[in-house]
Amino acid sequence: MNHPDRQPLLLTPGPLTTNPATRRAMDRDWGSRDTDFIALTARVRRRLEELAGGGDGAFVAVPLQGSGTFVVEATLGTMVPRDGKVLVLINGAYGRRMATMLDIMGRAHSTVSCAEDEPVTGAMVEAALAGDDAITHVAAVHCETTSGILNPIEEIATVVAQHGKRLLIDAMSSFGAIAIDPARVPFSAVMASSNKCLEGVPGIGFAILRASDLAGAAGNAHSLSLDLHAQWQGFEKNGQWRFTPPTHVLAAFDAALARHEGEGGVDGRFQRYSANCEALVAGMRALGFQTLLPDHLQAPIIVTFLAPSEPGFSFQRFYDLLHARGFAIYPGKLTEADSFRVGCIGDLDADDLRAAVAAIGEVMDEALTPEKPRRTASVPQSTSEIETVTQ
Ligand SMILES: *Cc1c(COP(=O)(O)O)cnc(C)c1O
Repeated sequence: MNHPDRQPLLLTPGPLTTNPATRRAMDRDWGSRDTDFIALTARVRRRLEELAGGGDGAFVAVPLQGSGTFVVEATLGTMVPRDGKVLVLINGAYGRRMATMLDIMGRAHSTVSCAEDEPVTGAMVEAALAGDDAITHVAAVHCETTSGILNPIEEIATVVAQHGKRLLIDAMSSFGAIAIDPARVPFSAVMASSNKCLEGVPGIGFAILRASDLAGAAGNAHSLSLDLHAQWQGFEKNGQWRFTPPTHVLAAFDAALARHEGEGGVDGRFQRYSANCEALVAGMRALGFQTLLPDHLQAPIIVTFLAPSEPGFSFQRFYDLLHARGFAIYPGKLTEADSFRVGCIGDLDADDLRAAVAAIGEVMDEALTPEKPRRTASVPQSTSEIETVTQ
């Protein structure tokens, strides 16, 4: 893609590279009671409901000010009754974060955990549900961004439905690019945000909630501002947000949703990200890098690569060298292996990923020899280089 006005490209899980048209949509002010703004809010909510496969009133989209974490916390607090119990499925940081939230809000929960490079299976969920009648809800992560693994959400949902429990899905890093069909994945809530696969700017989280479950959730929330039932009631009453709305973020989100539709919706985006992921993985393997995950577990969202085993390798230095060439990558978040991550999502195409791989190839020699930095005029000095030199 042509990126004349933007450096660096963000090869991260968010914030990520946005299209100039999306950013330009922010270039005006809106009053929260303007008719135009109320219509904008309604349009975005309706589009999110359609995207979740529930344009028929069975599902309600409730946007919330804040990043994705805010809406995850609000969804758990609103949809789980105070005497409910949640089974949290964990194979990475985002599953762990949901358990931490439940701890803090004082909701009963248990966990099923497996390694970060292994999917949570239906059989694990079956065993946990069979052994504990008190469980009312299951909280799962669709694409666990910690590693980039895709959990088998349909298999999990089938087991949860067989037990008559309700499923809450953190689809933050997959929504809009990997379909979750409610006919095959019966869910009570799906959570996501404005700035991952929908390519808006950060600042809004949202949940798509089964209307009948949400209607019964009044008074569950432990928090005034993180109460999705009250937030929904606010929209129903006068079309307005309860508190100061993220006006510019919503306008950008509306523009981003129009681009998403123009690209062919979820299928179109899945295809572009898949091509990005293939270009990235093929190029990196040709350079000698190894992916953490086998291809069949890898979501086309973000790829974890094992750090080079050479003792001289420094991630900070690698990061700085790539940043100077116009690419921002992401540190690894694994608890076990040394790694780094490269995202495939955002307003990027396969040529951008190939350019990133070429830059990685160019900086490797230098990244592996931090004690003897070789500088070229095109690489500005970074703080860490200066530190290396003065040590
Ligand atoms: C990004 C992400 C979140 C939320 O993160 P924020 O930084 O609060 O936006 C939650 N779950 C998953 C799986 C994510 O990828």
